[in-house]
Amino acid sequence: MIYADYNGSAPICKDVKEYLIKRLNEGPFANPNAIHHLGSKVLMAMENSRMVCAKALGASFKQVIFNSGATEGLSTAFHSVMTETSKKKIIISGIEHSATINTAKYYADEHGCEVCVIKTTPAGIIDLEDLKSQINEDTAVVSIMAANNETGVIQPYLEISKLCNEKDVPFICDTTQFIGKTLFNFKTCGADYAVMSGHKMGAMTGTGILLAKEPSKVKPIIIGGGQEGGKRGGTQHYLGYETLAVALNYFEKNLDNIETLNNKRLDFEKKLKERFSNIVIIGEDSPRLASTTYVAYPGIHGQAVQIELESKEIFVTTSSACSDNEPVTSKVLKAMGVSDDVGRGVVRISIGLCSDPSMYDTILEALTATYEKLAKIKSY
Ligand code: PLP
Repeated sequence: MIYADYNGSAPICKDVKEYLIKRLNEGPFANPNAIHHLGSKVLMAMENSRMVCAKALGASFKQVIFNSGATEGLSTAFHSVMTETSKKKIIISGIEHSATINTAKYYADEHGCEVCVIKTTPAGIIDLEDLKSQINEDTAVVSIMAANNETGVIQPYLEISKLCNEKDVPFICDTTQFIGKTLFNFKTCGADYAVMSGHKMGAMTGTGILLAKEPSKVKPIIIGGGQEGGKRGGTQHYLGYETLAVALNYFEKNLDNIETLNNKRLDFEKKLKERFSNIVIIGEDSPRLASTTYVAYPGIHGQAVQIELESKEIFVTTSSACSDNEPVTSKVLKAMGVSDDVGRGVVRISIGLCSDPSMYDTILEALTATYEKLAKIKSY
């Protein structure tokens, strides 16, 4: 079996698995906010994890706010910014995740804000010039991702950050797909907020981090009993937060794999193109995450490819929304100006930092057989 949907959700990584088994066997378990001895021990382990996460992410201890994941992080970041400003212009890009798009839409629908969607180039990179021209005196916030979940294309987040800092506009950087796949440093990133999600990097689902440059500005969306320094109410998922630290350490330990993986992926894509001259690799010439390939064979539905690969025990996604059995080109691809002919055909192959790179050989053969078979009965 090959699992190639890490961008959707990564399996629990090896070190986290080992850590959890030991941790569950040995305890302790208690409410980290309790004042008895076991509570203090749990609190200490959680705060130690916060320290480890802070160090791995280039943040300070206080800048790390544990939460349930990136959707919550983005919502909190927006809430923190929007409750403190009378400005009404929200700038996002057309390739953002729905966690950003729908949050921006909420502020448009409920608070009379204007959402400005900046252009994306056909290479899958946000148009910096457009961003520059759109920022004005009424801009409340810019929220743009560091790496795209569908294409894996890395965005010029450092330039965006610099621009926002110069214009004194808060910048929320969606680093969900970036952290745990390539090096990230919150301090040098310069964003006001960044988010992380445990299930994208081998830690437990339902855990994450909001990184806040100025923690005092964070406004909780969950009030509760003042946990997380009043920034996020509710008893902490301490076991889960411990796994964030273990997963980040695991990533650091295996950093050298990035280059190997990247080379193997490029070789896989090259061979695939040699076999099928008409296939399209989305964002091919752009800087991309080492482990993501988004490929289409025009005329063959991505779903058909997915099903065929699944019959060979290879799990990929199409990322195209599907209504009434009518696959449509995703919003991300539409923003890039990708035609429906290509857009309906995509499948996303995303593996992990520690996946065996030889997986690409198996996927190559399976995809070759799939395309050869389906090309004879082209779906559209
Ligand atoms: N942002 C991006 C780029 C994502 O890929 C995802 C998840 O797919 C999210 C945000 C939301 O993350 P979570 O599942 O942790 O809420």
